[in-house]
Amino acid sequence: MRMSDSTGALYLPGDPGFAEAVHGRIFNGRRPSDRSPAAVLYAATQDDVVAGVRLAAQRGWQVAVRSGGHSWAAWSVRSGSLLIDLGGLREMSYDPATGIATAAPAITGGDELNPYLSRFGRFFGGGHCPSVGLGGFLLQGGQGWNARGWGWAAEQVAALDIVTADGELVRADAENNTDLYWAARGSGPGFCGVVTRFHLRTRPLPGHLAHTVHIYPLARFDEVMTWLHGMHHTVPDSVEIVALTRTVPEYAEPVLLVTGLAFTDNPEQAAAALAPLHANPFASRALSRKESAPTTFAEQMQDQRLANPRGHRYFVDNCWLSGSAGDVVPAMRAAFTTLPTRDSFTIWFSMAPLRPLPDDMAFSLQSEIYCAAYVVSDDAARDAELRGWLGGAMAAMRPVTVGQYLGDSDFTVRRLPFLGDAQWGRLRRVTAERDPLGRFAGYLSSGPVTNSNE
Ligand SMILES: Cc1cc2nc3c(=O)[nH]c(=O)nc-3n(C[C@H](O)[C@H](O)[C@H](O)COP(=O)(O)OP(=O)(O)OC[C@H]3O[C@@H](n4cnc5c(N)ncnc54)[C@H](O)[C@@H]3O)c2cc1C
Repeated sequence: MRMSDSTGALYLPGDPGFAEAVHGRIFNGRRPSDRSPAAVLYAATQDDVVAGVRLAAQRGWQVAVRSGGHSWAAWSVRSGSLLIDLGGLREMSYDPATGIATAAPAITGGDELNPYLSRFGRFFGGGHCPSVGLGGFLLQGGQGWNARGWGWAAEQVAALDIVTADGELVRADAENNTDLYWAARGSGPGFCGVVTRFHLRTRPLPGHLAHTVHIYPLARFDEVMTWLHGMHHTVPDSVEIVALTRTVPEYAEPVLLVTGLAFTDNPEQAAAALAPLHANPFASRALSRKESAPTTFAEQMQDQRLANPRGHRYFVDNCWLSGSAGDVVPAMRAAFTTLPTRDSFTIWFSMAPLRPLPDDMAFSLQSEIYCAAYVVSDDAARDAELRGWLGGAMAAMRPVTVGQYLGDSDFTVRRLPFLGDAQWGRLRRVTAERDPLGRFAGYLSSGPVTNSNE
């Protein structure tokens, strides 16, 4: 039905289309069965969002938000909440005078924003999988293309338009509503507002992309990863470095891929930037090698689509790792060399040398190595077993784990620190002041949300 003062469509339990409104836009095929919203509002405009927050206040509902629907744990589905789905807000713009793009939160970085920006020779580092929505991605920090060199995507948020707990539409930036500007860049699903528009600093579209891919048998895992651990900080910051184990069509068994993707302007720059990875002393033992081969964003995004097929049952967990190779590599071994299904994969993502983070954003916890394991299955009967595998792989890394990244986390399963202590304290104060009645549903967790290991 239509809300009286709104263009949005409101679905209540029992309405035709309610189940589709709750689950239809969730990426993960493993849908939550133990929670269901009080109602769903498909917003078509910013005014609908304002009306939705005010309606929730009248009815005594909390508010949960969905942009791209990619949170692995379906954070948008919260019992007793009005789920405001922003999928109908489709606005994008670009101002050549400032280099600033605006985008509604459900706009996807790869499928929509970057194809649009490329017409102007510009680029924004959105999520690797092209279908990830900007909303959840930017709120939790945003580990976009070449985060290692270009930083967290949230650092490029110049301003946000936000509907507050009072149902007011405000602008937050470095001068106005600075508490919201700070909190919106790192608090993720704990943010106390609905973002209706992002204002994003863009960068020039790189003129030449090239990639290096060395493929090794898993038996080489320890020696190759020990070498990579000791040298990744020496690779120029125009290169995104990812090592991963997965099954690729050419080989029957899972393999270790050591990859570098150079964002440069010409083939010579790319070859120079990737050269340190070619000096791998174990390169002659690789099953195959591709070095400094030209590639495109379209090709890279297609690889991401194939690796992350929609609608399968995903279990995901992650950790920030720190320590010597002698401690870290053996701790990672199970996560990388015992993948439980053919489509599962585990990534090692370099952030070294670590860039200092600006102090005007909540995002504040990272380390040189990000590790995330993605268990992919179609068999619900294996859920408990696969969750057990993931828990075991993460437990093995616990001695060298310093925290986690919200983007691949599920607090109903495991909670680790995800912000610095000072930032966590400040976030609690901002939330208490901006949302004293707890209008926004906040973090989904099996227990009290902390920023510690308790
Ligand atoms: C296939 C795949 C690939 C991924 N790749 C990457 C990657 O490369 N880098 C990376 O950093 N992450 C990645 N992620 C993780 C992804 O960024 C997070 O799951 C993120 O939350 C998704 O954002 P969304 O808007 O699509 O999700 P949603 O499920 O729509 O949103 C997640 C939560 O964020 C909050 N939220 C979202 N929008 C708003 C808003 N407008 N206002 C207020 N709160 C809001 C809400 O609490 C919401 O429930 C990937 C996820 C998938 C499924």
